[in-house]
Amino acid sequence: MKAMHLDTHSSPLSSSERPRPVPGKGELLLRVHACAVCRTDLHVVDGELPNPKLPLIPGHEIVGSVIERGANAERFEIGARVGVPWLGWTCGECSYCKAGAENLCERAQFTGYTRDGGYAEYTVADERFCFSLPDQYDDVHAAPLLCAGLIGHRAYTIATERPFGGEAKRIGLYGFGAAAHLVAQLAVADGRTVFAFTRPGDVVARAHARSFGVAWAGGSDEAVPEPLDAAIIFAPVGALVPAALRNVRPGGIVVCAGIHMSDIPSFPYELLWQERVLRSVANLTRADGEAFLALAARVPLRVDTTTYPLEQANAALDDLRAGKLRGAVVLVP
Ligand SMILES: [Zn+2]
Ligand SMILES: [Zn+2]
Repeated sequence: MKAMHLDTHSSPLSSSERPRPVPGKGELLLRVHACAVCRTDLHVVDGELPNPKLPLIPGHEIVGSVIERGANAERFEIGARVGVPWLGWTCGECSYCKAGAENLCERAQFTGYTRDGGYAEYTVADERFCFSLPDQYDDVHAAPLLCAGLIGHRAYTIATERPFGGEAKRIGLYGFGAAAHLVAQLAVADGRTVFAFTRPGDVVARAHARSFGVAWAGGSDEAVPEPLDAAIIFAPVGALVPAALRNVRPGGIVVCAGIHMSDIPSFPYELLWQERVLRSVANLTRADGEAFLALAARVPLRVDTTTYPLEQANAALDDLRAGKLRGAVVLVP
């Protein structure tokens, strides 16, 4: 099979023909139809996350169909369309797994990071961590749901459940990329007022944000016209943490949704004072995935995508890094 792989840190992906992987016990062999490119892939390729599998096939937003089933794999029929997310395996035994927090499993394996992922014509996945996908999204448009949508939804749920002293009516989104363009639609559908923050001067991103019905779109260096109840930071920029806290009301919450962020500059305690909450969101649970995909079946989401052939994965990563793309980037083998 054709595959794009990372051989050493901070080098472009190489392309080669490899043997198709063989599904182990409880695993599925999938023919990959589409694999979205996540910002996390950039962090992996750029060496910003510790100890990736090497060589590694990246990619954790995989839509594929079942070609072969390993021993005991019987959850999906041959030919079934499934989605493979970031959470690839958990131990089921640690205190986090037992407490329903498998996203924090001490021995978790992650697709396209510590297990091979979907930048290839075929991949294998543990069937217990695969999802059925809503029919109304074709392969290219379903792929970004598997991380941008899913992790975005987890961050959105936490941001909107937690604020103290009133509902999260006004929600800010920092970094208007693949995740934010989906979360903005969920928030608007829930009747919330959305404020979109883009890189200073990025008028194209602002116009894109406005096309989803956000009430306000401006630079991340701008103050909002009214204080926010909650904010989610999708951009990997630590300086946005004090900027977001500054825009959030007492009792409000700031959620950092990315896996990696540049250092957060020091800031005066008064930005956190008054029971403001600052927290991160890590990974996903299978329950998150089921909940979000059921929601995506009910609330039709417009998924904006730019597709690249699999062989152009390096160009896709470069364009994502440069912030040139609107919505989600998807590789098609
Ligand atoms: Zn565990
Ligand atoms: Zn991701």
